[in-house]
This record gives sequence, structure tokens and C-alpha cells, in this order.
Amino acid sequence: MLIYRVPGSLDDSLDLLWEAGATGLEERGGFVRAYFEKRAELPADLGGEWLEEEDQDWQAAFKRDLKAVVAGRITIAPPWLAHEVADGQLPLIIEPGMAFGTGHHATTRMATEALSDLDLRGQTVLDVGTGSGVLAMAAARLGARLAYGIDLDPLTIPVARENAEQNGLYPPQLRFSEGTLSLSGAELCRPEGEDLAGYGVVVANLYAELHALLAPSYRAHLLPGGHLILTGILAGRLDLVTEALKVGQVSDLQVRLSEDGEWALVTGRA
Ligand code: SAM
Repeated sequence: MLIYRVPGSLDDSLDLLWEAGATGLEERGGFVRAYFEKRAELPADLGGEWLEEEDQDWQAAFKRDLKAVVAGRITIAPPWLAHEVADGQLPLIIEPGMAFGTGHHATTRMATEALSDLDLRGQTVLDVGTGSGVLAMAAARLGARLAYGIDLDPLTIPVARENAEQNGLYPPQLRFSEGTLSLSGAELCRPEGEDLAGYGVVVANLYAELHALLAPSYRAHLLPGGHLILTGILAGRLDLVTEALKVGQVSDLQVRLSEDGEWALVTGRA
């Protein structure tokens, strides 16, 4: 791979490099890197240099760098690392793909840990914004009688179903539907044919502003004493969520932060 590396930003040299035949440009560490198929005539006063770098197989590099993620009693791994799941850990195999939720984001990991801290055997769990289905699948692995994942984005549902199948998790224990919660929660969101009065656990990895809006709905979906697990919350916006939950009469609020302090997870009880 042939690269012309020049100090500065794209603002300084963009037109010149395109006109000289660059096939790609990027800014990195105070330099512009312009990719060329062959050397071009460039003004000496630009002050750049030609570099030959080894071609990278990005897919292979991505696969090589990916690690299995341990989150409490669950280990989430891509198919090619399934053998790395330690004895005694509950495996979730997820092919990184179209939907959010491979366990590599701190929020997914924290929510999985929070689920893993509970005794879910025989419980009902609602996962709002299921993405890849990871949290609903984790709940099913941890023994939930019913784990129901919903998502506003219809593209996620077939992905979640395929992931579930790959893990040997099927209806009626684990189900997915396109959908969301009404703001008031007056209408209970439940899988067809299930006569539920509410859920033992509601988990949602969304974002602070949406959690604040959905707080009454979360409360309405919880059985008395039920557990609420919310993440996707930037630490700086935490107050939005905790205030809304207090108003919505969710008690026993507890907060955990990701290692880098950027993300928060809030748990509470109905
Ligand atoms: N649950 C997965 C996890 O923890 O990794 C995925 C979380 S991802 C950050 C958020 C997901 O919520 C996306 O798949 C998005 O489509 C979905 N979503 C966003 N707003 C939603 C809403 N109002 N109702 C339901 N799903 C929503």
C-alpha cells in the first residue's frame, strides 16, 4: 500500500491530493495520509513523504482483535472463539453483524452483569431495545421462564431470532417482536398468547432522555418487587434518569459506572 503522509489537516491539502490522484484520504495524529496506486508529482514544499505499508486484511485483523467478553456468569463470544468459554460459564455465541449487542460495549456488558446478579429462574423478563437479542438471550440462559425482546428497528428482529437459534434458545422461552413501549405503559407489552400482569425484570439499554420519558411505562410493566435495569446512560446525564425514576416511584435506586466512568447503569425495584 502506497501512502503519501503530510503534516497538517485535510483543510490544508485535500484538493491538491485528490487532484494528484489519491484514492483515499484520512487524518491521523496530526498528519494527512493519502492513499495512492502509484507515485504522483507533488510540490516539494508540501513537506510530505512517501511510505510503503503492508496491506492489512481488515476483516482478519478485526477477527484477531476481538475477545470473548465475560459478564458475570455469562461469557459472550463470536463463533470462532466459542472454545474460549471457560468451564462453568454460560455461553452466548453472537456473530458480530447487523445489530448492536456483541457484549463489547460497556453498557451491554454491565446490563448482562446486572442480569447475572439476579436469580432469574422461573422469571419473566422484558428487554426493551433488544438489538442483537443479547440481553433477552442472557436472561433465557440464566433460567428465565419467558424472555421477551422488543425493538423499534424491524431489521434487528430476524438477527435476534437467528442468534437465538444459534444458541439453542427458542420460543416459547425466548421471543422477539418489533415494537416499543407506550409512554404511559397503560397498554402492557407482552408476547401474543401470554397472559401476563407484568414482568419480574425489565431491562433496557437505550439512552438517558428516552429512559426519562419511559420511566412511568417501565414502572407499569413491573410486577410488585420487580427489578428494573437501565443502561446506555452517559454518566453526565444520569440525574435525568434517577429523577424520573424517583418521580415514577421506583425505589432502591443504585448506580454503577463503567470502568472509564463514561457510562452508567441504574437498577431499582418496583
Ligand atoms: N440490547 C442490546 C444491548 O444491550 O447491546 C442493544 C442495545 S442498542 C444500544 C439500542 C437498541 O434499542 C437498538 O437496537 C435500537 O433500534 C433500539 N431502540 C431505540 N429506541 C427504541 C425504542 N423507543 N423502543 C424500542 N427499541 C428502541
